[in-house]
Amino acid sequence: MPSAKAYAAHAATSPLGPFSFQRRDPQPGDVHIEILYCGVCHSDLHTARNEWGGTVYPCVPGHEIVGRVVRVGSGVKKFKPGDLAAVGCLVDSCRTCASCRDGLEQYCESGFVLTYNGPDKHSGGVTYGGYSDSIVVDEAFVLRVPTNLDLAAAAPLLCAGITTYSPLRHWGVGKGQKVGVIGLGGLGHMAVKFANAFGAHVVMITTSPGKAADARRLGAHEVIISKDPEQMKRHHNSFDFILDSVSAQHDVGAYLELLKRDATMVVVGVPEKPLPLAMFPLVLGRRRVAGSLIGGLPETQEMLDFCGERGIACDIELIPIGRINEAYERMLKSDVKYRFVIDMASLK
Ligand code: NAP
Ligand code: ZN
Ligand code: ZN
Repeated sequence: MPSAKAYAAHAATSPLGPFSFQRRDPQPGDVHIEILYCGVCHSDLHTARNEWGGTVYPCVPGHEIVGRVVRVGSGVKKFKPGDLAAVGCLVDSCRTCASCRDGLEQYCESGFVLTYNGPDKHSGGVTYGGYSDSIVVDEAFVLRVPTNLDLAAAAPLLCAGITTYSPLRHWGVGKGQKVGVIGLGGLGHMAVKFANAFGAHVVMITTSPGKAADARRLGAHEVIISKDPEQMKRHHNSFDFILDSVSAQHDVGAYLELLKRDATMVVVGVPEKPLPLAMFPLVLGRRRVAGSLIGGLPETQEMLDFCGERGIACDIELIPIGRINEAYERMLKSDVKYRFVIDMASLK
């Protein structure tokens, strides 16, 4: 069995550190990938610190994986050694339920298998993710990377990219619409780029005045500093759509008041604790709150191809894996510009 070097959280309260384990031998349908880059998602931090409950230790996070195929099983058709390949948040699902049949594996009704901390039917334990030098994944869950994109900057497309692309597409965001993005982090910066590419009038809604210039450079047409009630008030009842990517506690009602009548705010951020929801901003204006989870395999490939055609990638800060704990601390301070990506060569 191929041995893998990795970084793992060994407990909710201890920093991540080196860890070694075995990947499975590639089965007939499997692709064995040498990981070159892995993005750092806020979900990695929530999971490493057991903020959502259910974390099994040691936990190897990482679900924004780009690498090179080193070996394939006898039945693999789409990939050969030497190809670039990517893996996102899912490595398996039931493949038979209505959602799986619709290519919406993220809503699998019998339970999908997450890339890390998911039930690994091969090992009987949990899956280990991309903070490692290799991974073995069924080819049905392996994606193609556009060859024209910088590989490190493409890695976060596998979660930050698809998690924002999918709801913007599903709710038909485009020309003639005023679209808000709350939170300029990993997800938020990709939401700004996509909403701009789809032709919307994009407004960045941020708690960080220091990010305003970057927001404009990334594609926002306007910026609202959400801590300033006057600025918020000026935009009341004016948005067609808002995407909420906030990772921590916040007052959802204050943002709902920005929506027009019948408009929708889609939540992708998943803070540790439930958020109180004041009902007046909802009932006034018949406004809606909805949620959205990553994206299925077909839409993830569509998003990657779109990014290749349009030259869209993430704005990243490349780090050696030894700086992962520092990256987590900066993420908690909203000090991310705008996604950390681990250079896996630093693991050798
Ligand atoms: P991130 O890079 O840390 O960005 C989060 C941003 O939220 C911060 O940069 C900050 O932006 C804003 N923020 C932080 N605390 C805030 C507060 N108290 N009030 C208002 N805004 C605040 O995180 P991420 O990787 O983009 O992930 C964001 C969330 O989405 C996480 O909870 C993550 O687990 C979740 N997620 C969900 C899915 C899904 O499928 N639904 C997929 C991936 C991640 P400003 O400085 O601009 O205010
Ligand atoms: Zn993620
Ligand atoms: Zn299913």
